[in-house]
Amino acid sequence: MIGAGVVGFSVAWHLQRSGHQVALYDPQLGQAQGADAGSSAALGLLMARVFRRSSGRGWRLRQQSHALWRQWREELQQRGHVLPFRPGLLQLATTAAEQEAQAQLAEQRQDLRLLDPAELETLRPLIPQPSLGGLLSPEDGQLDPIPAMRALQEDGARLGVQLNATAVRGLERSGSGQWRVVGGQGSYDWVVLSAGLSSSALLEPLGHERPQHPVLGQALELQLADGDQAPLNWPGSLSWSGINLVPRPQGRLWLGATVEIDQRQGQPEQLLALRELDGQAPAWLQRATVLRQWQGLRARPLGRPAPLLEQLEPGLLLASGHYRNGVLLAPATAAWVAEQIEQG
Ligand SMILES: Cc1cc2nc3c(=O)[nH]c(=O)nc-3n(C[C@H](O)[C@H](O)[C@H](O)COP(=O)(O)OP(=O)(O)OC[C@H]3O[C@@H](n4cnc5c(N)ncnc54)[C@H](O)[C@@H]3O)c2cc1C
Repeated sequence: MIGAGVVGFSVAWHLQRSGHQVALYDPQLGQAQGADAGSSAALGLLMARVFRRSSGRGWRLRQQSHALWRQWREELQQRGHVLPFRPGLLQLATTAAEQEAQAQLAEQRQDLRLLDPAELETLRPLIPQPSLGGLLSPEDGQLDPIPAMRALQEDGARLGVQLNATAVRGLERSGSGQWRVVGGQGSYDWVVLSAGLSSSALLEPLGHERPQHPVLGQALELQLADGDQAPLNWPGSLSWSGINLVPRPQGRLWLGATVEIDQRQGQPEQLLALRELDGQAPAWLQRATVLRQWQGLRARPLGRPAPLLEQLEPGLLLASGHYRNGVLLAPATAAWVAEQIEQG
C-alpha cells in the first residue's frame, strides 16, 4: 500500500481485517501530512444522499461508502476509537434551477426533505443570500478526517499492518512476478497506489499515463462571538453556492473550501472571497474571528472521471484521483481493492 492518506489508511485497515497481510508506505507516517496532501486538510463532508444522479458508478460508490462509513464507525467505536461525526447536511438553493433540482431529488428519495417556507424564514437572518430554498439530508453529515485516519492507523497497527515511514521511489517487477518497491523492503503480490498526485509519477516509468492535476483548497476555522452562536444549532453542516459552513465544538465554525485549479500556493484573494462569502457573509460571520487557516491539494484526474480505480497490470492497482470526495469514497475504494485481490 503506497500512500497513507484517508484512502491508504482505509484500504490498509480493511484488507488487514479481511485476512491479508499489509505493508503501508508513506514518508509522512508518524507526522503531519505534507502540504501536497489532501486528507488532513479536508472538511470531511460526506455528501452521498444529496448526489444529483441516481445511477452510474459515482452513485454506487457513494451509496456503498455511505453504508460502510456507518459500519466502520460502529466497529471502530467498539474498539475504543471515537470518530467524531455530525449528522445532517442542509443544501441551500441559490437559483431557480437548483431549487427545481432539489424538488426532484426530494421526490425521488424519501430520506431527503425540502425546507418549508416557514423554516426558511426562521433561518433567513442567519444564512447567506440568495437562498431560495433548502434540501435537508439527515443521513449525510460530516466526519472529522484527522481522528478518522488516526483510528484507522491505530486499529490497523493492532491488527498487524506494517508501517514504513519511507518514500517509494519506483516499482519494479521481480522475476517471480511479484512487485518490488524501490526504497522499501521486500516484494509483494499486490501493490496499491494511493499516493495522491505522486501516483502519476510512480506509474509513468511503467508506461501507464494517468495524469492528474492539483486543485488547491483553502479553509478557515472561525471563533463565533458570544451571542452569535445560533448557527451552531443548524440541523447539520450548511452548503451554499459550493461553500461549506461546518459547525464545530466550542463555538467554532469551519469555512471552506476554495477551488484553485493548478495552484500549489493558496491565492490571498481567493481566501478573502471565501471569508466574505463573495460579499454575502451574514453579520454574525463578519464578526467572527479567524483562528486558523490551512490548505491542501486535491488530485484530479485529467481526461477521466474521478476516482481512478483500475487494475493496470496483474497485481498493480491504482486507487487515486478522488478529487473532492476522497473522505466520502474511502470505504468504497477499500471494498473495491479487496474485491480485486480476492478475485485474483
Ligand atoms: C480543503 C479541502 C477540503 C476537502 N473537503 C472534502 C470533504 O469535505 N469531503 C471529502 O470527501 N473530501 C474532501 N476533500 C478531498 C479529499 O481530501 C481528498 O479526495 C482525499 O484526501 C484524497 O485522499 P488520498 O488518501 O487519496 O490522498 P492524500 O491525502 O493526498 O494522501 C496521499 C499520501 O501519499 C503520500 N505519498 C506521496 N508520494 C509518496 C511516495 N512516493 N511514497 C509513499 N507515499 C507517498 C503522501 O505523503 C500522502 O500522505 C477536500 C480536500 C481539500 C484540499
